[in-house]
Amino acid sequence: MPLSSHTSSSPDPKRRRALPIPGVNSSMKTFTPDSSVASDVIPSPNYGERNKGRQPDMILLHYTGMPDVEGAITQLCTAGTELSAHYIVLEDGRIVQCVPEAKRAWHAGVSTWGGEEDINSCSIGIEIINRGHDWGYPDFPLRQIAAVIALCRGIMLRRKVPGHRVLAHSDVAPARKKDPGEKFPWHSLANSGVGHWVQPAPVIRGDTLKLGIISDEVRDLQLALARYGYGVPISGKYDNPTMEVVTAFQRHFRPARVDGIADRSTLTTLHALLSSLPTDAVTTHTAVTAK
Ligand SMILES: [Zn+2]
Repeated sequence: MPLSSHTSSSPDPKRRRALPIPGVNSSMKTFTPDSSVASDVIPSPNYGERNKGRQPDMILLHYTGMPDVEGAITQLCTAGTELSAHYIVLEDGRIVQCVPEAKRAWHAGVSTWGGEEDINSCSIGIEIINRGHDWGYPDFPLRQIAAVIALCRGIMLRRKVPGHRVLAHSDVAPARKKDPGEKFPWHSLANSGVGHWVQPAPVIRGDTLKLGIISDEVRDLQLALARYGYGVPISGKYDNPTMEVVTAFQRHFRPARVDGIADRSTLTTLHALLSSLPTDAVTTHTAVTAK
């Protein structure tokens, strides 16, 4: 599809309703979308330059967590909110670009992954319209997930983003964020070559590590989580930050039970993920803090 056709390329006019927030920034200069699957551009003024020209090699997935679409788009595209994302994926599968990929959008906040703290500089942010945990947390429609997959596949190819760097906001900010949450179908993305995933080990009775325990096993758990990329203190103590990181891990990789308790299934799944990483991917960083 030629990029120049992006404003009039819908194959089915019946499906093409007006965007819910027409003209929110009608005075702003528009731009050509980076992705051929983005059908619309609503320019956001909320962006800056990537630090030291850092090229993005991560995709960060979010849900909007607001009760209505209009409010979510307005927040991401209005001056003064200090919030934005490169893309918004609507429930009907339409994809809107708000910030050029070359620029640094403001979606991650205080975050860390693999020892890196300026996640906005190294990532492309995708906001998926979903009301989120505070507003009933509906399932993600299949059409919307198909659009997320198509968008991510293109970015991964163009930007050489490895699968294990397609992450949830909750992965990089476990103390603050739940999105896109345990209902997000990471396994479907992985089936289409997006993200890093192994079949989670079944939840069974058995030994667990949990809040308050101090042991070498806890330290090993923290080291394994840090090797994967999580920002977790290596203290040997199962403290609140450790529980928050385990919870984030479960939301992404073992969604059948999200309780912050490192049971056998959680540990097995974590080690299977580490074993299936490309050899050059494991971070040697082990001294990151939880914030
Ligand atoms: Zn988010």
